[in-house]
Amino acid sequence: SLDAELHRAVERDEFAVYFQPQVELAGGRIIGAECLVRWQHPRRGLLAPQSFIPLAERTGLIVPLGFCVLRTACRQIAIWQQLVPDPFRVAVNLSLRQVREPGLVAGLEALLRETEIRPEWLDLEITESVAMNAAPSRLRVLRQLKALGVRMSLDDFGKGYSSLRHLRRLPIETVKIDRSFVRRIRRDPRDATIARAVIQLGHALGLRVVAEGVTSPEEAAYLRDQGCDLAQGYLYGRPMP
Ligand code: C2E
Ligand code: MG
Ligand code: MG
Repeated sequence: SLDAELHRAVERDEFAVYFQPQVELAGGRIIGAECLVRWQHPRRGLLAPQSFIPLAERTGLIVPLGFCVLRTACRQIAIWQQLVPDPFRVAVNLSLRQVREPGLVAGLEALLRETEIRPEWLDLEITESVAMNAAPSRLRVLRQLKALGVRMSLDDFGKGYSSLRHLRRLPIETVKIDRSFVRRIRRDPRDATIARAVIQLGHALGLRVVAEGVTSPEEAAYLRDQGCDLAQGYLYGRPMP
């Protein structure tokens, strides 16, 4: 029944895109935002992605749904682009299923043209599931996306089957340290060590490092001292409409 409801929701466009700010740890400046989808369910209220994204991925509905999010992001960029000169980076999550879909590159290319945005304002977040067992064809898609001029980030690094190889093989500029490490930085020295090592490794490979789920000034201070570039989390702002 959820699947039937989801289909209807896509037709009726019951989804809202929320934005969570990303800030520079050094200066506190907001330099971008991540798009996080919400479902405005007619009876159950606002639903978080965990309650419908996994199903949408299994049924393939994530393809049209994900494209709606991309379109919203591009339209929002077109507005912000008129207001500020520097790239205000807008990140959109891409699932494996979308990357597998043959029309993705052409669809995004058309979207960029239609909205007339500068592609470097858009940042595509992929997870390691996209990178894993990367068939050459999948890497080719990522390179084609990259060739459109958009940025790319590796999301949730450290969660699941992380492979250090992905860090150098993928066409990414940014790596996001998973919230599970950040959460325990002040409590478990081993997690702090892992976070520090990821920051150093990322920098050694020329990548920017974002810490996810920063909730306290202490976590932020530690990450800043370790040279982490950016942070995202409730400390700076929840996802907002
Ligand atoms: P993600 O891409 O890793 O996004 C970060 C998640 O962490 C968001 O959850 C955000 O609200 C949450 N978060 C951020 N800061 C904090 C914090 O300080 N504390 C806590 N406890 N949580 C924090 P959200 O919005 O529920 O999204 C969950 C996941 O759903 C996302 O994880 C992403 O994988 C997926 N998702 C969201 N929107 C989309 C989308 O448009 N397309 C696809 N394919 N996946 C999406
Ligand atoms: Mg993300
Ligand atoms: Mg993440």
